[in-house]
Amino acid sequence: METTLLVRVEEKECRTKFDLGRSGYGIFSTILETMKLIAQLQLKPTEEQAKALKETLQVANAACDFLSGLAWDNQTFGQFALHKIGYKGARAQFGLASQVIVRCVSKVADAYKLDPKVKRTFKPLGAISYDDRILTYQLDKGQVSIWTTVGRIKIPFVCGEHQRGLLETRQGESDLCFFKGKFFLLATCNVEEPPTDCKGGIIGCDFGIVDIVTTSEGKSYSGEKVKALRKKLREHRRRLQKCGTKSAKRRLKKAAKRQERFVRDQNHCISKELVKDAKASQKALSLENLKGIRERTGLNKEMRWLMGNWAFAQLRGFVEYKARKAGVVCVTVDARNTSRTCHKCGHCEKANRKSQKHFLCLDCGHYENADANASHNIAHRGETLRARVNAPIVSNRVPTGGRGLGTSPLAC
Ligand SMILES: [Zn+2]
Repeated sequence: METTLLVRVEEKECRTKFDLGRSGYGIFSTILETMKLIAQLQLKPTEEQAKALKETLQVANAACDFLSGLAWDNQTFGQFALHKIGYKGARAQFGLASQVIVRCVSKVADAYKLDPKVKRTFKPLGAISYDDRILTYQLDKGQVSIWTTVGRIKIPFVCGEHQRGLLETRQGESDLCFFKGKFFLLATCNVEEPPTDCKGGIIGCDFGIVDIVTTSEGKSYSGEKVKALRKKLREHRRRLQKCGTKSAKRRLKKAAKRQERFVRDQNHCISKELVKDAKASQKALSLENLKGIRERTGLNKEMRWLMGNWAFAQLRGFVEYKARKAGVVCVTVDARNTSRTCHKCGHCEKANRKSQKHFLCLDCGHYENADANASHNIAHRGETLRARVNAPIVSNRVPTGGRGLGTSPLAC
């Protein structure tokens, strides 16, 4: 099953940000031919229009609750069956457009798909999906025509250049969300993947703490800023936890969000740069799967905490989708022992790695920065993998290097 990484990333982001719940996001687990990206645009309604949008969300979610009750009472959870028993009643009771009811039925059915053992309820301002029959984009005018409880209204929207470009390929449903007093539309866009252009050569990327990424081309991205911020926030957290009041808890949450945003931003910048470099030199990217990271940080609890594995999963996700979008080949390799193996002679021994920073091969005497050495190994493994699987390869269709790579002279 292929799932576009960005979609996965965005899905999580959107879910937390817009409180979407799991419903209505069936697209995230479907098989994708092209790459699906989400364009986010902010609506700029007048006060009156905002009232109408809010009311629409409230009524639609009330309809969802009604349908959910019906589904629960009848133990009928399929979309088609639920439509049959609930459509007419919901239409009569809530006065929503027929297409909105259809979307509500689908939202409820999706919610029960995940777990039919619990009765589902919906937040009053949860997201509602719209299709082309109830929402029209007028890109040239920078507005949308959207169905609400007071009829169709035209609302201007704002978005960045990148999002505007994405919108040209918009297809299918969009979600109307309410977040922190603002209305957003999340539009699903189909982006064709450009053909990969890779003349040869591969850049190995080693993930670490001191340097977040070290490439086999000799570039590195320092992790100092992230580390400093995490440390600072930890102190902050300790103080607030001692305090234990309600406002302390609120501030704690805020601080955590701030850290998350910072790391996300860093990851976006780093991944962008990595893909840009690979594109410019027409090389492929070789990333390590995340098992390797744990192995290398296993020694020190403090270090492990500083890393936060999730941040690397995110970084890898960003690199992979950006690579796909740019037509850069990206492979994932088994990173086991990459930090203990000499990239010159292939000798693997734990003692090769003298410290966090230094690598000295006990067999051939090769000395190098430990991260740099690992990045060369990752590049080699990526190359081996590429040679084995017919090129060109697209990132998410590549089998990750499993034990099979043990036959490579570089692995042990
Ligand atoms: Zn050696």
